[in-house]
Amino acid sequence: MVPAPGTESPPVPVEITRRRRPALSPSRASDFKQCPLLYRFRAVDRLPETPTKAQVRGTVVHAVLERLYGLPAGERLPAAAHDLLAPTWAQLREERPELDGIFAEGEDPADWLDSARALIEGYFELEDPRRLQPEACELLVETELPSGVLLRGYIDRLDVAPTGEIRVVDYKTGAAPREIGEAKALFQMKFYALAVWRLRGEVPRQLRLMYLADRQSLAYTPDEAELTRFERTLDAIWDAILRAGRTGDFRPNKGKLCAWCSHQAHCPEFGGTPPEYPGWPEPDPGEETALDRAD
Ligand code: SF4
Repeated sequence: MVPAPGTESPPVPVEITRRRRPALSPSRASDFKQCPLLYRFRAVDRLPETPTKAQVRGTVVHAVLERLYGLPAGERLPAAAHDLLAPTWAQLREERPELDGIFAEGEDPADWLDSARALIEGYFELEDPRRLQPEACELLVETELPSGVLLRGYIDRLDVAPTGEIRVVDYKTGAAPREIGEAKALFQMKFYALAVWRLRGEVPRQLRLMYLADRQSLAYTPDEAELTRFERTLDAIWDAILRAGRTGDFRPNKGKLCAWCSHQAHCPEFGGTPPEYPGWPEPDPGEETALDRAD
C-alpha cells in the first residue's frame, strides 16, 4: 500500500530497472499477439515512447486509488480521493519531469487533472471503498509455470473474502469504448487469475474489470479447465517469442491498432526500417511499466 501524503512517500511505480530473469507480462504478451515487431520495439529495442495524456492520467488515478486504500476505511470518501489527486500528480511529475511534454504549448495541466476527477467520481459510482478491505493493491505477482515460463505482472487490487474466496480487480481508465479493449482486458485478467492460482492453489472466484470512464463493471468467473488451456496459450506465446528472439525475425502485423503505434517510422509496413537487431536482451524483456498498466 502507498501511504497517504503527509506520511512516508515512496515513489509512484513507473519503471523497474532491476535485472531479472526474462518473464512474460500481460502487456508484452498482448504486444506479441498483436504484432511481433511491436513486441521487439518495446521489449527488445526498448525504443522510447511518449506516453499519452490518457495513459498518464490512468497512472495517476491508479496511484490515487491505491493511496485511498491506505487510509482508514471510514475516511475513504470522494473528497479524500480528490484531495490525493494533486499531490499524487506532483510526485509523479517530480519523478518524471519529461511527462510535462504531454502538454501542448500554453495548455494548463490543471484542466487535464480535472478530467481525472471524473474517473474518480466514476469509481465511487461503482463501489464504496469504505466497505472493502483489500488484501493488496498494486500487487506484484510472479510465478513459474510447469513449462518454465516465468509470469510477472501487477494486479491493481486483490480482495480476499473471509471465506477465502479471491477476487482480482482491475481498473480501466482509458477513454476508448470498452468493447475495443475487452478481449485484451480479459486476456490480462486470465493472466492474473492463472498466476494467482499457481501461487496460492486457489482459482480466483471472480475477475472484475471496472471501467471508470463509462462507469460500468464486468465480472467474470474463471474455471480450472479454462485456465489450464490459457496456460498452454501462454506457453505457446513464450515459445514463439524465444524463437523470434533467437533469430531476430519479429514480423510486423499491420492492423487497425497500428494507428496507436508509436513506431511507424521504424516499421516496414509504413516505409520505415527497424534498427539493427541488438540480440536477445538483458535485462528482462518481459517487464512492464505503470504506464502499460494504466490503460
Ligand atoms: S505500425 Fe503496426 S505493423 Fe508496424 S510495428 Fe506498429 S503495430 Fe506493428
